[in-house]
Amino acid sequence: DAPVPPPIRKVIERLREEGHAAYLVGGCVRDTLRGVAPKDFDVASSAWPEEVQRAFPKVIPTGLQHGTVTVLMGGMHVEVTTFRSEGDYHDGRRPNTVTFERDIAKDLARRDFTINAMAWDPAGGHFVDPFGGQEDLGRRLIRCVGSALERFSEDGLRPLRAVRFAAVLDFTLDPATQAAIPPSLPVFRKVAMERVREEFVKLLLSRRAEFGLELLADTGLLEVFLPELAQAEPEAAHRARAAALAAPAEVELRMAALLADLVEPQRAEEIGVRLKFPTKCIERIRLLVTHAGVEHLVGAPDPALRRLLSKVGLAQLEALCAVARARLQVREPARMPEFEALLERLLALAATKPPLSPKELALNGGAIMSALGVGPSPMVGEATRFLMEQVLDEPSRNTPETLRELLTSWRQARGA
Ligand code: ATP
Ligand code: MG
Repeated sequence: DAPVPPPIRKVIERLREEGHAAYLVGGCVRDTLRGVAPKDFDVASSAWPEEVQRAFPKVIPTGLQHGTVTVLMGGMHVEVTTFRSEGDYHDGRRPNTVTFERDIAKDLARRDFTINAMAWDPAGGHFVDPFGGQEDLGRRLIRCVGSALERFSEDGLRPLRAVRFAAVLDFTLDPATQAAIPPSLPVFRKVAMERVREEFVKLLLSRRAEFGLELLADTGLLEVFLPELAQAEPEAAHRARAAALAAPAEVELRMAALLADLVEPQRAEEIGVRLKFPTKCIERIRLLVTHAGVEHLVGAPDPALRRLLSKVGLAQLEALCAVARARLQVREPARMPEFEALLERLLALAATKPPLSPKELALNGGAIMSALGVGPSPMVGEATRFLMEQVLDEPSRNTPETLRELLTSWRQARGA
């Protein structure tokens, strides 16, 4: 009997007082049985959406057509969804129709895996487990509710969810469930990339990411959305997976560690676009992939290091170090001390806050124009780049006087 937040318990009790059945369902039942604190608590009820709305003073009609009402209770948002079964799936993507039901068994039967198809009423003390979910939890098994082939043909995302749950929970796939994946790939291909990415990211951020990526490759799922990794040489693919796992569990960092030694920056960006990552996220992945190969800077002088800092930006330096460290640990563990020394030097240089971008120059655009005696022209851009290089070589040059002197000799050298 695990702790259920009081507002959730109140919602269930209130629905029961009104004569409805109400249960906790899905992930929260599974996680509670595993002894893990659930991320969120989903309530399912025999009450129809209008009945849920009538039972509580404060509600948000979140998705009435799907039967979901959000109840505001004790400072919490509690989602209550009417029991439902799903009609035919015409293209393996979304059910054509949703039918509200009065019987919890119907609702559990539409769910994907046995461990996700249990219901628990903490107020009434009922536990409903028609498909042996508890036993599968004990055996650490991902198994479809009913025929795996049928369930995968209804919703092509389910094969990926099976692998995702195996990675996140550190479970294995039931043989019949795993065997149903390859024949379901044509349906998986039709699934919207946003849904694929959401599951893929959960897998990638899990502690068993390496195992999950391998299982994705073995089942043929990976080939559909990340052929670059699926088709890589075994040794390169292994290193990419291990580097991803070695990076901190942050999506851009793990994506960059996965891709840095596999593809060019341009292709990394294309992959981000293909998987419909947000633009900001794609830009960050591309930046990290572009500069992750820091090892050529071992033993390089400070100006070379400052040039890297100016390209990466101080805001992304920690992330870059994390990605570089992850891939180097996998590739050249014996050389880690010298790589760590390099990363230390980069961080120490950054801490001196050297000028790294044109806007930090001691002369702004206007001052450069008057020093040169010209108006806006391409020459100003050239002069700015020249000064920036001078200051990256030697930050102490960044004073108005020194920069003016440098400009004078620059103009003379150009014969202008
Ligand atoms: P997590 O803790 O990772 O969110 P979860 O079990 O809550 O795990 P969700 O994706 O949030 O997973 O889905 C909630 C529940 O809805 C699942 O436990 C499952 O019962 C059901 N479900 C979700 N997606 C599907 C699907 N594609 N097919 C069938 N049932 C699904
Ligand atoms: Mg969930």
